[in-house]
Amino acid sequence: MKKIFLYIIGFVLICFIIPFIFTKPFEEESQTVGEESPSSPQEQSQPYDYKQYNTIKLLHSKTNQIEEIKLDEYLYGVVSSEMPANFEVEALRAQAVVARTYTIYTISHNNGKHEDAQICDDSKCCQAWITKEDRLSKWEEDVRDSNWKKIVSAVDDTKGKIITYNGEPIDAFFHSNSGGTTETPINVWGGSGYEYLQSVTTAGEESYTQYASEAEFTKEELEKKVKEKYKDFSINWNEENAIQILELTESGRVKTLKVGNKNLAGVEARTLFGLKSTNFEIKQENQKIKFNVKGYGHRSRNEPNRSR
Ligand SMILES: [Zn+2]
Repeated sequence: MKKIFLYIIGFVLICFIIPFIFTKPFEEESQTVGEESPSSPQEQSQPYDYKQYNTIKLLHSKTNQIEEIKLDEYLYGVVSSEMPANFEVEALRAQAVVARTYTIYTISHNNGKHEDAQICDDSKCCQAWITKEDRLSKWEEDVRDSNWKKIVSAVDDTKGKIITYNGEPIDAFFHSNSGGTTETPINVWGGSGYEYLQSVTTAGEESYTQYASEAEFTKEELEKKVKEKYKDFSINWNEENAIQILELTESGRVKTLKVGNKNLAGVEARTLFGLKSTNFEIKQENQKIKFNVKGYGHRSRNEPNRSR
């Protein structure tokens, strides 16, 4: 759950741009009520007609119970779970649009994953969600009311909005900090597709937390980690390039890392060494190997079609 909070920050930068380019009312014709403009107070108070997505079936993963819940009501629990309420209101709105997009995308590509339910509340599987009661209890009493109102407004202000590409909801990924450039999904999950997600620069990331991190290993520790996966792994540290970055992706992340007799994909190295991103450099200092990492990216969602 904590990790998910961290995934959000950098993503917001993208969302400031993308929603205004790609978002459109979910059903344009139902946005117009008489002569009212779409942003009039009267329409704001009307429930939005999401057609077949008005009510969704949410699986509570801990209890295995299925709850039927209104889409935007469900999103209050998602947004308040995915992003701290003290973030800027525009960031929360962007997150609401992404969460709504992701929800509709997931439901329409469910493939019977949860049998009678359409989506679950497990962040490792579908999308994090928290009850209002639990959410409120985790906030200090003096901000409970204002925090909840802020979340509700962010969802309500964007009701009916999703991000689309060629008229279809996109598979909306997000991350904590891009490190300055986002990655093309093909370099993370392989396959093809995601034409709507291309590498872009996102200025200002360095001022956020989660921009830089490091991981340090002794040679023995590093060897042990690689050996856990590759029994035939060997390395001669006396060789000049015993550990070396061989290839970078277009966004400057590590595509291939040579470690001894193994060539690891950047994403594989990230997992093996527990790094926050494939955007890293390596230094050997004294007897230690140091990874200097930029950004904090999205991992696989454990979906076979997206995992390498
Ligand atoms: Zn799920």
